[in-house]
Amino acid sequence: MKKKVRRIRVNLDKCNGCRACEMACSAFHATPRYSSVNPSRSRIRVVTDILNDEYVPIRATDYTKAQCDGRRVYTINGKDYSECSFCGSICPARDLFKDPDSGLPLKCDMCESDPPQDEPLCVQACSLDALTYEEVEEEIEEEIKRSEVELGLQSLVDRYGLVEIRDIVTRMAHRD
Ligand code: SF4
Ligand code: SF4
Repeated sequence: MKKKVRRIRVNLDKCNGCRACEMACSAFHATPRYSSVNPSRSRIRVVTDILNDEYVPIRATDYTKAQCDGRRVYTINGKDYSECSFCGSICPARDLFKDPDSGLPLKCDMCESDPPQDEPLCVQACSLDALTYEEVEEEIEEEIKRSEVELGLQSLVDRYGLVEIRDIVTRMAHRD
């Protein structure tokens, strides 16, 4: 099946770690929109190693309740990067991509909105063109798209157990 795929290309050579992308993303996803700026609520985070002049913008992907055993080191242009530097998973090994108040996972939604944006907000905010937006036609396998609501529910079930969450939802359903 062919599908239009929306992608954000990252050029590591151009990123200087300014974090404007984080601010733009968090402002766009604030409620109401643009009412606050808080990078800890951003769905893009810049993994930073100032000593080694390394800045890697990564976007939040899927929630996972267990951390992986990734221990690979990638050498790019003479710099060493850990595997985690490129991973967008919302995992227990780090604090990235978790709402600071609720602890629920934050996933990149490509700034889907009505009316749609010409380009995602993080791309618009990046004045150095370290992030560029592209749309391509690709042959892909049928995918099951998990909504943010489902991701949030999954993380609550992992934390409190299915029975507890089911009981809470049942109680809520019977309230006036
Ligand atoms: S806005 Fe661009 S240059 Fe600044 S941290 Fe984000 S990706 Fe890097
Ligand atoms: S595409 Fe939108 S939601 Fe995703 S990281 Fe960029 S600004 Fe955030």
